[in-house]
Amino acid sequence: MSLLFFSDHPLRGLNTFGFEAYAQCFTRIESKDDVISLHQYLDEHRVPLLLIGGGSNLVLGPKVPGIVAQVLIAEMALEELAADRVRVTLGAGEAWHASIERLLDQGIYGLENLALIPGCVGAAPVQNIGAYGVEVKDRIEAVEVYDWQQRRFYWLDNAECRFAYRDSIFKHHADRYLITRVRFLLSRLPNCVLSYKPLREAIEPGREHNPRAIFNAVCRIRRAKLPDPDLLGNAGSFFKNPIVSAAQYEALKQKYPDMVAYPEGSAFKLAAGWLIDRRGWKGYRRDGVGVHEHQALVLVNHGDGCRQQIETLAQQIRNDVMEQFGVQLEVEPRFYP
Ligand SMILES: Cc1cc2nc3c(=O)[nH]c(=O)nc-3n(C[C@H](O)[C@H](O)[C@H](O)COP(=O)(O)OP(=O)(O)OC[C@H]3O[C@@H](n4cnc5c(N)ncnc54)[C@H](O)[C@@H]3O)c2cc1C
Repeated sequence: MSLLFFSDHPLRGLNTFGFEAYAQCFTRIESKDDVISLHQYLDEHRVPLLLIGGGSNLVLGPKVPGIVAQVLIAEMALEELAADRVRVTLGAGEAWHASIERLLDQGIYGLENLALIPGCVGAAPVQNIGAYGVEVKDRIEAVEVYDWQQRRFYWLDNAECRFAYRDSIFKHHADRYLITRVRFLLSRLPNCVLSYKPLREAIEPGREHNPRAIFNAVCRIRRAKLPDPDLLGNAGSFFKNPIVSAAQYEALKQKYPDMVAYPEGSAFKLAAGWLIDRRGWKGYRRDGVGVHEHQALVLVNHGDGCRQQIETLAQQIRNDVMEQFGVQLEVEPRFYP
């Protein structure tokens, strides 16, 4: 079937900040054939392309030029392997949280710590989503891509994806790859990751530590801690946790003994939320945007905010943190255009 194109398509419901935005042209990709059709269209029209899943890691400007293509490829395939391992292939358009829940219902474990992260499967490898002690790279076997340069589909194995903290090859080559499917190696045996203290504490004392209990606890913590984008526009954590050298960490720790940080190899990962909170930004509000009142790492749209206002606020926070702590904050979501 040929692709349908819509001009001046509203994107407000397709970015969790809820910014008023319009795509010059919009289409939906539901199959590999659609990917090929889109490539033929791009050959003819030579316009920029933005791929979108759920829009939960994007900051959109009011006019998005070229084509916005929402990737909606659906699939869930299971392959039982030896030693209770299961190979799970998910289409890029599958909803992330609902997929984890479906797998849990079938007794397939490994993704429960990543429950309730908004968005689609196809975007999960892009920034190597992570939460509560697990990064998705720990569970990915391979990612199927369409390579716009080579004009073909193929699989990249885990090493080829060059995963790192909130990073991957896809973040650096957004114009080269469209992710069509992701293949995970999961297990029928529970292997509970409880390295994150608040998660351990959230599981009711005396209750068994099983994947379902972890899933429920993660959902409880997230609902209590993070604003629901349906009620208050946001893109989750707005800044990455900065990684600093041991020497810089020691110097900061001397000055700020209550600073929150975690060892990261020979370096240290500082809690960006602590740095921002310490500078008094929590609950700050200006124009239509602000910093969430309970979570300094989350910038919010109070309803009539826009990309420009978020950009200005983010820059003010970055400058302030740099001035006070000498630490560079890096923005997590992608600004487009
Ligand atoms: C309330 C809230 C909580 C969050 N919590 C977390 C968290 O705990 N941990 C975490 O890591 N993130 C978190 N996020 C960020 C976000 O949910 C994730 O990054 C998610 O994976 C984005 O999925 P999406 O489908 O919405 O991607 P989008 O925002 O639509 O796209 C994100 C990027 O991926 C690209 N992309 C999308 N689909 C494809 C595809 N098929 N092929 C190639 N590129 C593609 C886009 O072009 C864009 O660059 C949170 C966001 C919110 C709003």
